[in-house]
Parts: sequence; C-alpha cells; structure tokens
Amino acid sequence: MPTFKTLDDLGDITGKVALVRVDLNLPMKDGSASDVTRVEAVKPTILELSEKGAKVLLLAHFGRPGGKRSSVLSTSMVVGDVEGVLGKELMFIPEVSGPVVEQSIGILRNGDIGVLDNTRFWPGETDNDPDFAKAIAAHGDFYVNDAFSAAHRAHATTEGITHFLPSYAGRAMERELKALDSALGNPEAPVAAVVGGAKVSTKLDVLKNLVGRVQHLIIGGGMANTFLAARGVDVGKSLCEHDLTDTASAIMDEADHAGCTVHLPYDVVVAKEFAANPPSVRTCNVHEVAADEMILDVGPQATEALGDVLKTCRTLVWNGPLGAFEIEPFDAATVALAKTAAALTQDGSLVSVAGGGDTVAALAHAGVTEDVTYVSTAGGAFLEWMEGKELPGVKALSA
Ligand code: ADP
Ligand code: MG
Repeated sequence: MPTFKTLDDLGDITGKVALVRVDLNLPMKDGSASDVTRVEAVKPTILELSEKGAKVLLLAHFGRPGGKRSSVLSTSMVVGDVEGVLGKELMFIPEVSGPVVEQSIGILRNGDIGVLDNTRFWPGETDNDPDFAKAIAAHGDFYVNDAFSAAHRAHATTEGITHFLPSYAGRAMERELKALDSALGNPEAPVAAVVGGAKVSTKLDVLKNLVGRVQHLIIGGGMANTFLAARGVDVGKSLCEHDLTDTASAIMDEADHAGCTVHLPYDVVVAKEFAANPPSVRTCNVHEVAADEMILDVGPQATEALGDVLKTCRTLVWNGPLGAFEIEPFDAATVALAKTAAALTQDGSLVSVAGGGDTVAALAHAGVTEDVTYVSTAGGAFLEWMEGKELPGVKALSA
C-alpha cells in the first residue's frame, strides 16, 4: 500500500486553516438531500479537525455545472443537510479563493467550519489548472482529502492542490484505503472475487485484473451468461453479449494459466418474463434452458457450492449482484451468498470487501451491510481500483 500521512501526523493545529476535500455530491429530492450517507462518512474528520481547534474549510463539487456558476448547483443547497448531520452551524462562503475567502477566514473562530462554493464552477477544477489549485491552497495551512469517491479524477482539489500544501488522508479515506488494501493490495490468500452484474462489457478490465490476483473467480449475474455461451451453453433469451464470447474464453484461459478457478453457475433460475414471481419461474440445469427462457439468477445448488468455496477462503472482494436482485425471487442467490459471507466475516475467518452502486443496494437488501468488513460507496473510484488502476487522488497523498 502506498504510505500516506493521516490526521495522526498533524501537530498542533490550533488556529490553522484546514482545506478539506469532501464528497457533498448528495442525491437531492425537493430541495433537500434524500440520502446523507456521504456526510456521515466525512463527519469524523470534520469534527476531529474542528475539535482540535482548526478553522475548517470544506471543498466539494456538486453536480456538473461545466465550469460556470449555477444557482441550483451551489453547495449552499446542501448546507442545511450538512449542518443537520454535523450538529453544528456552518458558514457558507460563495467563492473558493480571493478576498471573500480571506475575509471569511478572519471571521471564523477556531473550530468553526466553512463551506466553499462548488469547485466545478471554475474550469480550473476539472482542468487541474495549477494556478487555480495554488490560489485555493494560498488560504490554507494544510490539505486533507476525505473524498475517496473523487480520487479517480486528477482535479485541482483532489490532486493539484497537494503540490502546494502538506497533504493528509482524512479518516474516511484512511479507512477506505486500508480496507481496499486488505482485500486486493495485500490480501490474505486464498482470495475469492465475486463479479456479477448485467454485462461483461462494463467489467472487462475488472475481470482481467482479478484473474491474475485471486484464486477463485466467481462469475454471476447477466455476465455469467456470456461465459456460459462461450462454453457452448444455449442460454435461450437470456441477456448475453454474444460478440464477447471469445473475450470470455480468453479470460478463462488466462485464469487456467494463473491458477485461478473460474466458477460459473451449473443450475440457474429461469423465467419467460422479467417480472416479480412470474408463473413461468423454475430452476433447472444450465443445459436445460428453453429457447424462450431467461436466466435471472444462480440456482440453489450452485449457490450452496459457492458458499462452500467462501468457507475455504480468507478474503472476499465482491462487485455486482449474482442475479436480478431487484425482483423476487431473483434475489435469492445474492442474498444467500451475502449472508454466508457475513457469517464467515463475523466468525473472523473472512475479510469481506464489497462495492458498486447496485452491490451496495443488494447487500443492504440482504441486511448484511454492518456484518461485512467494508462496503465502499465510492462507485466509479471503487471500480477503477478493482481494475487495478492507480488513482491520482490517492497517489497524490503518497508520502
Ligand atoms: P454494480 O452497480 O454493483 O457495479 P451492475 O450495475 O454491474 O452492478 O449490475 C447490476 C444489475 O445487473 C442489476 O440491475 C441486476 O438486475 C442486473 N442483473 C444481474 N443478473 C442479471 C441477469 N441474470 N439478467 C439480467 N440482468 C441481471
Ligand atoms: Mg450498477
């Protein structure tokens, strides 16, 4: 793991100005946030800096204003929600640099928190313009990045600014990096990866990276159909990328060379229509799928066998549901395997790390969010990490 400084490395910060990059890109409904998970995530960092007497200035983007001011995309929209989570009043500052910011810092008392406006109102943010980064940095004594979810972008407030200020990982960033390192960077073997979801095409780089790094590659979801088709199975009306069967074969060959066992379902849950509890639903062997049927979940026998595989493993990394989990009964395999993973984690025999938009929802649906080791809500950054890419925002923190 790249080494990075954390809040533990800060000396006395009384009266110092902390520039803190956070993720306040909250989903909005009727003018307020419909989900404040992202604020909960950065709360420990913000409060720790505040309690140690720093003047805390939050930096965040909000939506995609495209380098221009937009009143509906001002971070002032979320100030109320953030105050609610922190239990503290915030000062909104409608700039990111210049005299208004300087005056505001003069008004803030030690421990007070300010929110700067949407960093993406200025094209310098996404262009990673050094002058823009330097102008922001001029207001601070040090920089803290607590937004792993934005770390896959080399932007002025995620990367550029680190060239002008001493830089530290916040508590959420620190937790995320440690969890990801324990799952793929420096894991205890044997390692299993579950890769599911709709399509192979969106996860090709993930599969290619995992093949050389894990001992068991469990493929589920719609993408399993493409792998089954590559093995000559007739998948009927299932979602299947027939143009990618050669790619799927190549990945399986590579796995053989690397000593990685690929697990595909051998029984499946099929139906003639994509609806809740349709009359046509049945379980069958993968070789018995009819021309008018779709595979919508991994079958019960294969699911049990996958649970047995997890029992032999020390580490699990999971992205993508095993079936169309939004609709009953096609959530069964995902829920069952999630519960097995959670139980093994609670027993102390498995480190389990999961991420991905639908995966987060699926694990919540299975009721195991608190029982696995770590669930990443970082979306795109999590996937790029699964692809084995070096994230610029993380690299910039490396000491
Ligand atoms: P994540 O957001 O966690 O990365 P994906 O977006 O790749 O996951 O995949 C989730 C989607 O895959 C879900 O909408 C789910 O319904 C769909 N899916 C899973 N299995 C199947 C299947 N057998 N057929 C069609 N869609 C499927
Ligand atoms: Mg998704």
